[in-house]
Amino acid sequence: MTENLNPFAIAQAQLDQAAGILQLDPHMHAFLREPMREFHFSIPVRMDDGNVQTFKAFRVQYNDARGPAKGGIRFHPDETIDTVRALAAWMTWKTAVCDVPLGGGKGGVVCNPRNMSPGELERLSRGYMRAVSRFVGLKRDVPAPDVGTNPQIMSWMLDEYEVINGEHDPGVITGKPLMLGGSAGRTPATAMGGMVTIREAAKLLGMDLKGATCAIQGYGNVGSFAHRLAHDLLGLKVVAVSDEFGAIYSKNGLDPTVVSGQMRRTGKVGGTPDSEEISNSQLLEMPVDILIPAAIENQLTGANADRIQARIIAELANGPTTPEADQIFLQKGIYIIPDFLCNAGGVSVSYFEMVQNSYGYYWTEQEVQERLDQKMTTAFHAVHKMAEERGVTTRMAAYLVAVNRVAETVRARGWV
Ligand code: GLU
Repeated sequence: MTENLNPFAIAQAQLDQAAGILQLDPHMHAFLREPMREFHFSIPVRMDDGNVQTFKAFRVQYNDARGPAKGGIRFHPDETIDTVRALAAWMTWKTAVCDVPLGGGKGGVVCNPRNMSPGELERLSRGYMRAVSRFVGLKRDVPAPDVGTNPQIMSWMLDEYEVINGEHDPGVITGKPLMLGGSAGRTPATAMGGMVTIREAAKLLGMDLKGATCAIQGYGNVGSFAHRLAHDLLGLKVVAVSDEFGAIYSKNGLDPTVVSGQMRRTGKVGGTPDSEEISNSQLLEMPVDILIPAAIENQLTGANADRIQARIIAELANGPTTPEADQIFLQKGIYIIPDFLCNAGGVSVSYFEMVQNSYGYYWTEQEVQERLDQKMTTAFHAVHKMAEERGVTTRMAAYLVAVNRVAETVRARGWV
């Protein structure tokens, strides 16, 4: 039987398993299985050639029991409502596992930002905010960047929101540039949080990270900072990295400054001096100590899981591993740092950004990093303790911690 790769079906199946272990009340389970609200938009955008193109877009507010919905907006040609639903569900579990007072949401636009001019992207970003503006806000739902979006796009969206409402309101969106009220340390935060979890996992496993080997899939914001920090902070030897066009390998390790330089000049990691080109599957299947998927969902599946040789998989992407692959990794004894724990550093610093915006006073990068480290370390150990106590995988343990916290709040509110 072929594996169901619909991300929302996967997110629901994971929740179902957690609900079974927790013996969750069936009504609570039914409520947590579905998004609370979702919005579908058609956004007309004047293109540079004078024609108007209509883009499909979504915002899903999966659950806001613990606080305003929170989560990024993706610009991606393969975006679907089910992808956004899954990502919004994972945001709900992510904000709960790192214990920030926020719910979970996600947005998406079906578009290919690579084929759009800056002017077209600006008009699309402003159009998205016009469509969603009455449903978002500091006390309702706070978007942020994700795959295909960046601080510039957040700036246009913030500006549009403030123009519509006639007042400054920087906390309506996070991942902004510093001069618009962004937080120090937000851009590297997802990768930085992931490094904290790798450090803690290595301690548990008695693994020496100095000189340990690492492969990273994806070279966007998260993957490129993961390369930099794995190299500089953890002393890992990053032997392979990739982007959507291909992967590169160097036995002696890839220098993040050299690869970033190549990326800046050519838009690709391919062609980096002293590296050889390999395929994406060679990267994933390489005998490394640590594999970091930092791209998109469904990369480690029933089709390739038995060939994965890493000791630790640190999931900086959302949803990179399917349930079938999870089963195989369990048998192989690979230690998984599950996505909504491993990549919770981004939303943690987004929360810090909202806090700083609300009192208009800004922290230093060092203060942000100390608080981030504390949040991630605490979350990691809460999950580890749950895994030990209940004898479950780290992914299930993360679900148990998160679902318990969300369910308690839902119950306290009297919704179920
Ligand atoms: N898009 C990021 C994530 O998936 C960050 C979300 C946020 O900061 O709200 O975690």
